[in-house]
Amino acid sequence: MLTEKTSIYSYDLNSLETKLISLGLKKFNAKQIFQWIYQKHVQDFDSMTNIAKSSIEILKQNFIFNNLKIIKTLIDDRDETTKFLFELKDKRVIETVLMKFDYGYSICVSSQIGCNMGCKFCASGLLKKIRSLSVDEFVLQIVNVNRYLITNNKPCITNLVCMGIGEPFDNYDNLKQFLSILNDPFGIGLGARHITVSTCGLIDKIVQFGKDFPQMNLAISLHAPNDDLRNKIMPVNHAYPLDVLIKALIEYQKITKNRIGIEYILLKDLNDTPECAKQLSKLLKPIYCYINLIRYNEVAENEFKTSTKANDFSKILASNNIISTIRLERGSKIAAACGQLRANYEKDKF
Ligand code: SF4
Repeated sequence: MLTEKTSIYSYDLNSLETKLISLGLKKFNAKQIFQWIYQKHVQDFDSMTNIAKSSIEILKQNFIFNNLKIIKTLIDDRDETTKFLFELKDKRVIETVLMKFDYGYSICVSSQIGCNMGCKFCASGLLKKIRSLSVDEFVLQIVNVNRYLITNNKPCITNLVCMGIGEPFDNYDNLKQFLSILNDPFGIGLGARHITVSTCGLIDKIVQFGKDFPQMNLAISLHAPNDDLRNKIMPVNHAYPLDVLIKALIEYQKITKNRIGIEYILLKDLNDTPECAKQLSKLLKPIYCYINLIRYNEVAENEFKTSTKANDFSKILASNNIISTIRLERGSKIAAACGQLRANYEKDKF
C-alpha cells in the first residue's frame, strides 16, 4: 500500500520526533533533519550525509520537499523592499514582503488566503477568506525568501512580522506550529524577541498567545480610539469592543510583561483629529505600549485618504506620555498596501 507523503516543512521538532519514532527512526534524526533543512538549506534527503542510507529511504517514502511557485518578484529600488507573489498548490496566491532595515532583513508573512475580518480600509479584506494557510505554506514563505537572499549573497532574515494577508489568530493552530519551527534553535532559529504577530483583536487567542509564546511580540491593529468609529471601519469590534479588548491586553501583559505595539493607520478626517489623539491616549493609559502611526497607502476600491497630520497627532500623544513613531513609507512603488498586489492579481484570475 502506498503511504501518502507529507510535506517535511509541516512538522515542528516535537511532531517530527514523534513521527520518526513511529517510522522506526531515531529521535535525534529529527534534529539532524531540521539542521539540514533550515540551517544548511538543503532541498533533498540524499544531501543529508550524517543520516544512514536505510533511514534516508524511509524518509523519501514518507515525506516530500514541496515548494511554492514564485510568480512575481517586485523590487522597490529606493529601499530594497521586495514583494513576492507565491502560487500555492490550489493555484491561489499569497504575498510575502521582504524589507531591509539597519539591523538586517525582516519578512512580513501572510497567514490566510483572503481575510474574513472585513476591515474597510484593507486591500486584503476585499477578497474574503478562501482558506487558512497550512504549516508548510507558512514555513515555505521564509524558506523561499532566505533562498532568494542567499542567491543574492545577502544575509538571511533576522526578524519576522506576521502582518500580511489574513488574521493570524483565525489560524491559530497552524500559526503556533509555524512559530515553533521559526523559533527552534535547530530550526530557522529566529529569537522570540525578533518575532511579532499582529491581530485585529481576537481576544481569547491574545491571552493564549501570551501563554504559548510569552517572549514574542504582540501588535494590535487598533486604528480607532472609540467604539463608534471602530465599529464603522473594523467589524471585529462588534464582537470584541474596546473595553473587552483592553481587558484582554491587560491580562496578556500580566502573563508576559511585554510592551504591546499598537498599529494605527491615520485616515484623513476620520481618525486623525486632535480629539481622536486625546481619546486614544486615554484608552491606552492602562497598558504598557507604544504606537506605530502608519501612513495609509490608498487603494482604488475605497474612499479612505492618506492623512497629513501624523506629526500633530504624535505630539498630542507625547503630551499624554504615550510614545509613538511615524512609520516610514516603504515599497509604495510596488503596490505596498497589504494585499494590494494579490488583490489585483486574483481579480484578473478568478
Ligand atoms: S487589516 Fe488584517 S484583519 Fe483586517 S481585513 Fe486586512 S488582513 Fe484582515
